[in-house]
Amino acid sequence: MEGSPGWGMQTPGAPTMLACRTVVLILALCAADAEAKAQASDAPPPISASAHAIHDGLLTLDTHLDTPANFARPGWDIMDRHKVADRSQVDYPRMVEGGLKGGFFAIYTPQGPRTPEGDRAARDAAIMRGVEIREMVAKHGDAFELALKADDAAKIMARGRRIVFMSIENSYPIEGDLSLMSTFQAMGVRLIGPVHFRDNDLADSATDKPEWHGLSPKGRAFVAEANRLGLVLDASHASDDVLDQMMALSKTPVILSHSGCKAVNDNPRNVDDARLRALAASGGVIQVNSLSGYLIPTPKNPAREAAMAALMQRAQSGHLTPEQQSGLEAEYAAIEAKYPEPRATFDDFMKHLLHALEVAGVDHVGIGADMDGGGGVTGMEDITGYPRITAALLAAGYTPADLAKIWGGNVLRVLRQAEAYKASLATGR
Ligand SMILES: [Zn+2]
Repeated sequence: MEGSPGWGMQTPGAPTMLACRTVVLILALCAADAEAKAQASDAPPPISASAHAIHDGLLTLDTHLDTPANFARPGWDIMDRHKVADRSQVDYPRMVEGGLKGGFFAIYTPQGPRTPEGDRAARDAAIMRGVEIREMVAKHGDAFELALKADDAAKIMARGRRIVFMSIENSYPIEGDLSLMSTFQAMGVRLIGPVHFRDNDLADSATDKPEWHGLSPKGRAFVAEANRLGLVLDASHASDDVLDQMMALSKTPVILSHSGCKAVNDNPRNVDDARLRALAASGGVIQVNSLSGYLIPTPKNPAREAAMAALMQRAQSGHLTPEQQSGLEAEYAAIEAKYPEPRATFDDFMKHLLHALEVAGVDHVGIGADMDGGGGVTGMEDITGYPRITAALLAAGYTPADLAKIWGGNVLRVLRQAEAYKASLATGR
């Protein structure tokens, strides 16, 4: 989950904290805007039948799906086909069309007050979101299945179902009580990131001022506990110091579940080449993001940011009636029209992906496009565009075996390493 590029949230400083419903609202608006722009531009070139056939045979996982934010929307059902304009980039029909076999469904919690009350509210919201993910799987057991081990993924795919791994984006819900990590592990979580847009009790954010200069003492305990529980650590949104310290401390490789390359676009949410090499050397993986504001430079626009901040202030002020919500949507559209921002294209996304492959190597790169969380570019507005990634990689000379690693093999390898470390503790070896 990222929110909208251009709201000042991905730049250093103190990003605006958003209520979750507000984030959903904004994403919807951005997505609708993106779709309108896409319709105005030329349609992407068709994908060859052979590329499609290769794509459809792959075990494809996206490591950052913010789709669970939609699960509590009244009347919203993942089995229905939704539209980008209707605040949605992932559902079952489009997973089939886009050849997406599954992914990591995120329990995202916006960072709020670091108080006992704030921690408890975050804990409760995250538990409810986890329950909603499990309820979705239980309700649609013919179409989806919960994956608890790396080896489950291929079995679920062979049964013709979509693979649902669970992940945590922002560990604010557990910062007050690290023993909750085992609760979430028991619920099914297998991938966990310490922090989001703002620093918390565990770690510094890539988009906030350094508070701990990396991990806090509690954050170090968090890393050890993740290792003990067989959870994969996720350094997306964490500061560079946190990534360095997690790589040094963790007994198993770290991933970046949805990040880009600083060498292509210098943004704090992206990672530099030296760290990409260190990540690869330690066995980790970068899963490349498709969020426009991180892929390409976004010019500073103080007038736009002020207008958006004022809108956000009101959007956060309490429970909105449908009328108030449509009013805010109209205002958002007006601000977008008055202060338009550049929109990244599929080619911009591919520049990050190909650069990561060149620097980190084919064993250390994957896909985490941040769909339903701010991702999506012109030419790949939702997951139905994923066969284009396969076609573009084939055109760039990557083999079907390489694609199997990029689309899922690499992240499953890291999960297996986390499982093996946990098992080694149990057997004392
Ligand atoms: Zn995110």
